[in-house]
Amino acid sequence: MTARGKILIVGAGIAGLATAWALTRRGYAVEVFEQGPIPNPKASSWDEHRITRHAYGEWEGYAALMPEAFRMWDQIWRDIGATHYDPCGAVYFMRGDNPWYPSTSRSLTEMNIGYRDIPLARAAARFPMLNLETVTRIVETDGAGMLFPVRILTDLVVHLAGRGVVFHSYSLVSEIDPERATVTSDGRVFGGDRVVMAAGAWNDRLVPSLRPEAVPSRQAVMFLAPPSDLAHAWSEAPVMADIGDESSCYMLPPRRGTRLKIGDHVFTRRGDADEDRTATDQDVARLMRVLPLAIHDFDRYMVLERKACFYTVTEDEHFVQRAVGARGWIISACSGHGFKLGPLTGEFAAQALSGERPEAQITRLAAGLETV
Ligand SMILES: Cc1cc2nc3c(=O)[nH]c(=O)nc-3n(C[C@H](O)[C@H](O)[C@H](O)COP(=O)(O)OP(=O)(O)OC[C@H]3O[C@@H](n4cnc5c(N)ncnc54)[C@H](O)[C@@H]3O)c2cc1C
Repeated sequence: MTARGKILIVGAGIAGLATAWALTRRGYAVEVFEQGPIPNPKASSWDEHRITRHAYGEWEGYAALMPEAFRMWDQIWRDIGATHYDPCGAVYFMRGDNPWYPSTSRSLTEMNIGYRDIPLARAAARFPMLNLETVTRIVETDGAGMLFPVRILTDLVVHLAGRGVVFHSYSLVSEIDPERATVTSDGRVFGGDRVVMAAGAWNDRLVPSLRPEAVPSRQAVMFLAPPSDLAHAWSEAPVMADIGDESSCYMLPPRRGTRLKIGDHVFTRRGDADEDRTATDQDVARLMRVLPLAIHDFDRYMVLERKACFYTVTEDEHFVQRAVGARGWIISACSGHGFKLGPLTGEFAAQALSGERPEAQITRLAAGLETV
């Protein structure tokens, strides 16, 4: 055991790995338990790309965390020796009145992040792949782009193993004792000074008290190949979000070895995280209805993959970080927007566990109710 003590972490998604990273930097000994391979393709964190951005609509508390989140990513890039981020910017398409603009404009101005309107008359030439007839306003924002999670998780694992983190792959944790800081896996009991639950959509199995607050939600995304005449336009596109009521969806362009991915932010609040990850007709029903509204000539696109993914969602999409018993700590940082905040989430957990900040303050920071 090191002078600072030993921390056991359940889950090797971005929350668990980033917590391991932040603790290792502080001199703790860390052991990570993961039910599958490391990293695990069933984790919410496993994907080709994820959006990062400063624009956060009415959630101004989370917007205010983003400059610090970007700084944490910069530290990760330095530590792993690679930058898995494409700062391609983000463009938002509004159809009718939308409360997104005034609050976003206010927080981007406060953070000194550039943003501008794209005149509707010029949009068709730049976005020939979209249906723009009912679009009323287009806003382009800086300080946004795509993170590449599979590469991030893989590099973090290699880096952390090199720093002495002990990884237990294929080690389902069947029980935790937050009073004694123990975890049970394959009939063996492991002990530490603190235990952190970062088990994503499985968290409520280990900590049932989480259940009413954060529920697993089965979500679908589609990977597509655009028609060849639009391939170039897509390859130069930024991250795009249609924020019309009927047509809402987000689009991540095919760049740096990724495919075009489209999903939505409409929670199902149903399902079990152990289920199959192939999206069914029912899973993609809303996307199939919406995409012809958002995308021009959608019937010319080839579907490459329909994927289901699970995350936890809270009523107002806030993240949960709090003490469980005397020596446990739980992180449920998801609701579909947790990857971009991953390193900051890990940093918050490390600050709480090391006593650098009061635990109650970390709970409020993680919930976007207080700023750093
Ligand atoms: C379709 C989709 C799109 C998204 N888009 C974005 C986006 O654009 N931008 C963004 O910022 N965020 C996005 N998110 C959210 C983001 O991916 C998640 O918030 C984040 O990855 C959650 O990480 P996590 O570590 O908490 O959970 P996970 O990545 O799920 O990790 C939990 C890990 O714990 C393991 N585990 C569970 N139970 C046990 C056990 N008992 N024993 C051992 N191991 C266990 C699991 O196998 C898993 O590997 C999206 C999520 C989805 C699903």
